[in-house]
Amino acid sequence: MRLGALEAGGTKMVCAVGNEHGEIVDRISIPTETPEITVPKLISYFAEKEIEALGIGCFGPIDLNRNSKTYGCITTTPKLAWKNYNMAGTFKEALHIPVGFDTDVNGSALGEATWGITKGLENSMYITVGTGVGAGIIANGKVLHGMLHPEGGHLLLAKHPKDTFEGTCPYHKNCLEGLAAGPAIEARWGKKGFELADRSEVWELEAYYIAQALVDYIMVLSPQRIVLGGGVMHQEHLLPLVREEVKRQLAGYIETTELDHIEQYIVLPSLNDNQGIMGALKLGLDEYQLEKIG
Ligand code: ADP
Ligand code: ZN
Repeated sequence: MRLGALEAGGTKMVCAVGNEHGEIVDRISIPTETPEITVPKLISYFAEKEIEALGIGCFGPIDLNRNSKTYGCITTTPKLAWKNYNMAGTFKEALHIPVGFDTDVNGSALGEATWGITKGLENSMYITVGTGVGAGIIANGKVLHGMLHPEGGHLLLAKHPKDTFEGTCPYHKNCLEGLAAGPAIEARWGKKGFELADRSEVWELEAYYIAQALVDYIMVLSPQRIVLGGGVMHQEHLLPLVREEVKRQLAGYIETTELDHIEQYIVLPSLNDNQGIMGALKLGLDEYQLEKIG
């Protein structure tokens, strides 16, 4: 079966064609400009690919409530040209096929849970620490949406007593994204993350904040495994620091086999940066099954 996948990001749109086994046979990347410029290019790519369904993993916030008049739309994004844009509806109308729609990070969580390192687990999480921070949650075998969709990047954190940096989030002074995403690292230390590789204090503070968020996710959601992706996690020494700090902050309160093997509990993505686009394939497949099979 031929399926389309779109990973819609703030800087680029990745379009791919694949199948129900998560195999990708074609892919292109198109810069994200305004909807008027970009969307016709995306539609003309998919229109000639003979796909039976499309899945979209999209930057957000987005409306995922199927009973809402604005289902499938991007809502309050700071990327103003895309505010209130009817993403799912536009593709459905143009291509006349089922269109699955979810957040980009939920797509990555679904990709790993279907074909990657969280496959077979009923409860898992995928967290990306990049330009922003996002968290996708698989709960009882399904992507968790709830009222809107989780916004785990904006989890409020206790500031490190020695950290005088204000945080970059315009909404919250002390949320995970504002204190620990790539732009926060750059604003706090005056250099990009990859230029700070040998500054241990940078990564100790980074691990302190990421671990604090993970401890909160663990307490509330009890995931069986946590995947940490995104550009900032390319710092190889960061992951071991996060694992150590999670153990320290949990302070022995929770004892499980998973936590005894923390190097298998908090892990990097396993799909060579294809988790997002493969997750979008699965979103398309699921929507196809919902519409055609019920
Ligand atoms: P996006 O979040 O835009 O999809 P990425 O996940 O690649 O993209 O994240 C980009 C962010 O990650 C930037 O802020 C960048 O500075 C940071 N970053 C990328 N590579 C590294 C690295 N090796 N070490 C630390 N930070 C990095
Ligand atoms: Zn915030």
